[in-house]
Amino acid sequence: MKFFQAEAVVLKSRPHKEADRIITFFSREYGKLRAVSYGSARPTSRKRGAVQPFCRSRFYLVRGQEVHRIDQVELLERFPAIEQDLALFGVAAYLAELVDAFTGEEAPNPKLYDIFLRSLRLLGKAGAALLTRAFELRLLILTGFGPELGVCTLCRQTLPPGERIAFSPQTGGVLCPSCKGEGPTIEVGPGTLKALRHLAAGPFEQVLTVKVAPVIERELYAILAETVAFHLGYRPQALSFLDRLGS
Ligand SMILES: [Zn+2]
Repeated sequence: MKFFQAEAVVLKSRPHKEADRIITFFSREYGKLRAVSYGSARPTSRKRGAVQPFCRSRFYLVRGQEVHRIDQVELLERFPAIEQDLALFGVAAYLAELVDAFTGEEAPNPKLYDIFLRSLRLLGKAGAALLTRAFELRLLILTGFGPELGVCTLCRQTLPPGERIAFSPQTGGVLCPSCKGEGPTIEVGPGTLKALRHLAAGPFEQVLTVKVAPVIERELYAILAETVAFHLGYRPQALSFLDRLGS
């Protein structure tokens, strides 16, 4: 199959030679793809508007041995809230960086595509911090790194409900009192564990209505951002940018 098409959200774009760009995009059908867009760095290029970061577009592609080529591209959706607000742009950049880092090329993950797209649509409507935490959690679950919240991740003992509990990004979940001495942990309260379970299940759009106390929001940040950084082996650039903005 030489020609193929995909619906995708643009994750990033970088210059390639003088007038071209290499576009990385996350598609519903094929997962992450990379393709060269000839001429799209020129101001007069017709492709230019549809290959900007976070646009949702339909790509018409020619399969290549090393890199695919974008033959045509049609813009399907833009997210004006992201374009008009630096903090929201920062959140979108963070979500895109996570999708890029946690997925392999041509490994379809339509559920993650769906959550990514819904998150972009909710930016500016839902609280940015809670939306970001909900996205991190769903991303971890959908890429096989979902946190264990019910039993100790070392000895598998069921943990008593209603108490403050140690969470370890290294073991990927909670630790019982006798195991928690072995490595750095984050202490979280029962309300935070409840919020995590709630955000992991149910419709994603609940982030529009769920309210959490500031202390729970801070603990969610500690658990999820640290777990993401642990699996990546580095702190995402866009997250540091968001931290500086204070969101
Ligand atoms: Zn244990």
